[in-house]
Amino acid sequence: MPEIQRRKSVTVPIGQVRVGSSAPVVVQSMTNTDTADIESTVQQIASLARAGSELVRITVNNDDAAKAVPYIVDGIREKGWTTPIIGDFHYNGHLLLTKYPACAQALSKYRINPGNVSIGRKDDDNFRTMVEVAVKHQKPVRIGVNWGSLDQALLTRMMDENSKLSEPLDARDVMMEAMVRSALDNAEAAERYGLRRDQIILSAKVSGVRDLIDVYTALAARTDHALHLGLTEAGMGMKGTVASAAGLAPLLLAGIGDTIRVSLTPTPGGDRSEEVRCAQQILQALSIRSFAPQVTACPGCGRTTSTYFQELAQQVQNYLTESMPEWKKLYPGVEEMKLAVMGCIVNGPGESKHANIGISLPGTFEEPKAPVYIDGKLAVTLKGDTIIADFKRILTDYVASHYGSGKSEEPALTTH
Ligand code: SF4
Repeated sequence: MPEIQRRKSVTVPIGQVRVGSSAPVVVQSMTNTDTADIESTVQQIASLARAGSELVRITVNNDDAAKAVPYIVDGIREKGWTTPIIGDFHYNGHLLLTKYPACAQALSKYRINPGNVSIGRKDDDNFRTMVEVAVKHQKPVRIGVNWGSLDQALLTRMMDENSKLSEPLDARDVMMEAMVRSALDNAEAAERYGLRRDQIILSAKVSGVRDLIDVYTALAARTDHALHLGLTEAGMGMKGTVASAAGLAPLLLAGIGDTIRVSLTPTPGGDRSEEVRCAQQILQALSIRSFAPQVTACPGCGRTTSTYFQELAQQVQNYLTESMPEWKKLYPGVEEMKLAVMGCIVNGPGESKHANIGISLPGTFEEPKAPVYIDGKLAVTLKGDTIIADFKRILTDYVASHYGSGKSEEPALTTH
């Protein structure tokens, strides 16, 4: 697989995590608990971290939230997580960060929205105050422009200027340019107020896929600041997943993006960690990073009238998800493993041979046996009612013998 040429960007240390082109693309997420509810917020941060979120952002929207921040950070450290916690500030960040120095100190990074930090003012004193707190505590910031809260004074001025041109640009183009300009101008101001370049990350989030690609392509061409990438509101379920993949993939393949967040709307009572797994899956599908073994399963067709192979694919996937927390510790490299679960002989053996372990189940009218391929070679043929259990055993043996300290060159076989 050819290497993706990452766009060169300044690397920003955030606690123990590094964001920039000299580091892998970092997965991050954000809680949706009330930050003032310390216990729930700690629980959700731990669950996001367990799912693989390498940075977690929490909203700091009022006094109670700001007071809770040091306790939240302590709580998460007591649970053994070193995950940097980022404070998300809007409107009153300058007040909260100065009124609650323990909050400012406990956070690993501040997100500043330049569109609403100095709302209704002619100066940028509030922005400057936040930057000065960051300088005092030596914390990096993200200047996070969002088209839903874009600096209206800047946009109006640019729209006016545009309307006076002999050939005015399309309003969409002016909006995209205003977002880029807002990010760049505020980054420049942050440096003027004392932050170093390696303390500034930029983002310019929109909710449309084509807009996202255009605005980040333009931004990336005009700065070497590290970029945080993501749709601002991806949406729910399949729509959110597909839109995020469609928007992030072209940019990541072009080397643009140093940290990503997939902003999925969870279903009521749904699992917030889905957005972490979705971000990981996007990076893994593009061969940028590996997080968990991948199962290639065929879609099935009229040649497989039973759902047996769907059940096997599901059970193998569940087994991997359950086993990975332990395997990750015991068997480094296991996240690179590839599995194939195929429905019949048409593509089954071929696809199985491309995987570390593949099984080709019998289709309708085929002999009831399931050849298993290990590292491209037919290793064993399973039959009878215990195919699923036998296949899981083969998988476990393979992991133990091929990764971590148990590594061997020979495939471990469990025969039926
Ligand atoms: S491998 Fe067989 S069962 Fe699966 S989609 Fe192809 S032809 Fe159908």
